[in-house]
This record gives sequence, C-alpha cells and structure tokens, in this order.
Amino acid sequence: MITRFAPSPTGLLHLGHAYAAWVAAEWARRAGGQFLLRFEDIDHTRVRENFYTAASEDLAWLGFAPDAPPIRQLDRSDAYDQALARLRELRVVYPCFCTRKEIEAEIASMSTAPQGPEGPLYPGTCRQLSPDDQQRFLAAGREPTWRIDAHRAAAKVGRLHFHDGLHGEMQVDPSLLGDAVLARRDIGTSYHLAVVTDDAWQKITHVTRGDDLLPSTHLHRVLQTLLGHPAPLYLHHPLVTDAAGRRLAKRDDARSIRAYRESGLSPTEIRAMLPPLPLCVSETRA
Ligand code: GLU
Repeated sequence: MITRFAPSPTGLLHLGHAYAAWVAAEWARRAGGQFLLRFEDIDHTRVRENFYTAASEDLAWLGFAPDAPPIRQLDRSDAYDQALARLRELRVVYPCFCTRKEIEAEIASMSTAPQGPEGPLYPGTCRQLSPDDQQRFLAAGREPTWRIDAHRAAAKVGRLHFHDGLHGEMQVDPSLLGDAVLARRDIGTSYHLAVVTDDAWQKITHVTRGDDLLPSTHLHRVLQTLLGHPAPLYLHHPLVTDAAGRRLAKRDDARSIRAYRESGLSPTEIRAMLPPLPLCVSETRA
C-alpha cells in the first residue's frame, strides 16, 4: 500500500494541502503502508527553491513526514519523453500548432463547440493535418504541443473503470477532456503525462487528491492503459474551503501552515481545523 502527496512548490502549504497530506499519510499509516512525497515542479518558471524546503519542514512539523526522500518531477524529464515517444508509436497523439488565439477564434466561429468540465474543449483543428502540413509548420519554425487523439485512444483502450473510495465505481469517459495537451510547447510534458508516469514509477497503489481533479482521472486511466501501467485505487476528497465556501489558494498567505505556526498554533490545533477523514481512511485497519 503506497500513497503520495504531490504539491507544486509554487507557494507555502495551506490548510488544503495539510488536509490532502493528512488523508494520504493517515491512510498509509493505518494500512501499514508507505507515504511518499513528490514535488510537481514541471512548471519550473513558477517554482521557488525555498518552497520545497518550507513544504518539507511544514509536513514534518504537522507529523506527516514522508517515508522516503521526496522526488522532483524536474529530474524526470527523460521518463516523460519516453512516455510521449511510446504514445507517438501507438499513434494516439498528434502535434498541434495552434496558438491560444487561433483556438479561441476557431471556437468562436463554431455554432456548437464541444464542452468539457471547465469550458469549451479543443476543437480538433490539427487532428487532420497531413504529414506534409506538419512538415510545413515545423519548417516554418513552429513548435508543436502534443495532444491526445481522444477518439483513437478510446478505440484502443475499450471500456475502463476506476474505483474511488468516496465516489464508488466510475466508468471512464475517454472524451471528457477532449484532445487534451499531453506535452506543452514550453515544458515538453504536462500534469497528466507526468502524474501517470510517476504514480506508476513510484508504485502508488492509492491515489488521494482533491475532487477538482476527478475529471482528470478519466484521462489518466486511458493513459495508464495505453502505457501498460497498473490502475491505482482512487480517493478524490472534498477541498477545504474558507468561510465563504471558496477553495483556498496559495495567495492566501494568511492561511498558510507557516503563518498559523508562527501565530502559536500547534499541529493538533491545525488538524482540528480540517474536515474529518473520509470513512474509507478512518476505518482502515492494518
Ligand atoms: N500537484 C497537484 C496539486 O497540487 C496534485 C496532483 C495529484 O495529486 O494528482 O493539487
């Protein structure tokens, strides 16, 4: 049994992170498993070295120190390149040369653009480019992003499911996020490709995270299947919100674990501010 907490070192940990770390650490502890820490730092222009240290210190202070040294996604770019190469061999990804402006214009010109959980999806403009067209873009110096061809991928993987400790058995909708970006132009990978590659590499058996990421899990199950990775169990827990019901953000520095600690609160007092553990965690016996 292996769980993980995977923050991005782009700010101080806040109560939402403390809850996510607690769920993962406590589930592993109760099952006699391992709790790992992974820094999701692929967006390297936004990370700061002091946030890695602060996160490790805050976790240790809260009582959620990981059972092994943390890994950094920035050290793992070869693995992401290999995963993308494999998806290219399988012909389930395609290069996309559209700029954000071009995509917006294309969507605005359509009478009904395909919709995803967070708004319109990529309309598939570059899916049909011929090899000659692709060469012309490359020759003109345009760097592509790589997108999944959701329909081709769906045809390859067949019917998929995942089990969630709170939401139950879920059937995968491979088109939920459309032709999502798997490798960004600027960083050569994406959250989706990196998380699937690393969860498999770290042998994570139980993936716990906020329920804002539930739609992403549909795509992750497709990628795991294409790449030959095992399916973890999932637990998408509610997000911690402020008094007005808004989810906490890194910019709310006043609510950082550090600020609470400096104001004299103890780890136990911080834990008392968090929502209760999901039943599947609190009822686990080793
Ligand atoms: N890095 C993500 C976050 O900070 C977590 C992603 C995951 O657990 O899959 O919310």
